[in-house]
Amino acid sequence: MAQVVVALGSNLGDRRAHLASAKAFLSTLSSTPVAASAIYETEPVGEISTRTYFNAVCSFRTDLPPFSLLEQLKMYENHHGRDAEAPRWSNRTIDLDIIDYDRMVIARQRLHVPHPEYSKRLFVLCPLQEIHPDWTDLRTGRTIDEMITVSPKIEVFKTDLNW
Ligand code: ADP
Ligand code: MG
Repeated sequence: MAQVVVALGSNLGDRRAHLASAKAFLSTLSSTPVAASAIYETEPVGEISTRTYFNAVCSFRTDLPPFSLLEQLKMYENHHGRDAEAPRWSNRTIDLDIIDYDRMVIARQRLHVPHPEYSKRLFVLCPLQEIHPDWTDLRTGRTIDEMITVSPKIEVFKTDLNW
């Protein structure tokens, strides 16, 4: 079984409900309980979005191979209002990114793990630090504290929302 980390984000509609539904979906892919961070409210990155995001990170074990997991996540996004044609950085009902798959390095057109951007994204690093405080980057060996220190500063606010 593989240990995987998935980052969740939503900035449309009932953001908390979208994250909660996605977490329930992830638990159907896992044979063990899903470890989940708090929900963080974060400043949108890029110019197209206007509303703040709700972000979180989930960690779980799965029997699905990497590309099957990606396919499941994309199907879920497509069935939940994510317009596959919309430009990157646009508003989105739910975004599910594979941050890590069993500490493997995968560099294929459709799938890059570790996720190429995560180490610069405070909206991933803060919730990741909460559930994996000893996390290190597979490529650079940097600790999560080091990555947080050097990441571009955006506003990240930890909420106490149940989800
Ligand atoms: P982003 O999440 O970077 O804003 P998208 O969610 O629109 O952008 O993803 C665009 C494409 O990125 C997806 O179609 C998927 O095939 C590809 N991709 C590459 N690596 C990953 C990964 N680790 N997790 C999720 N999608 C990935
Ligand atoms: Mg994505």
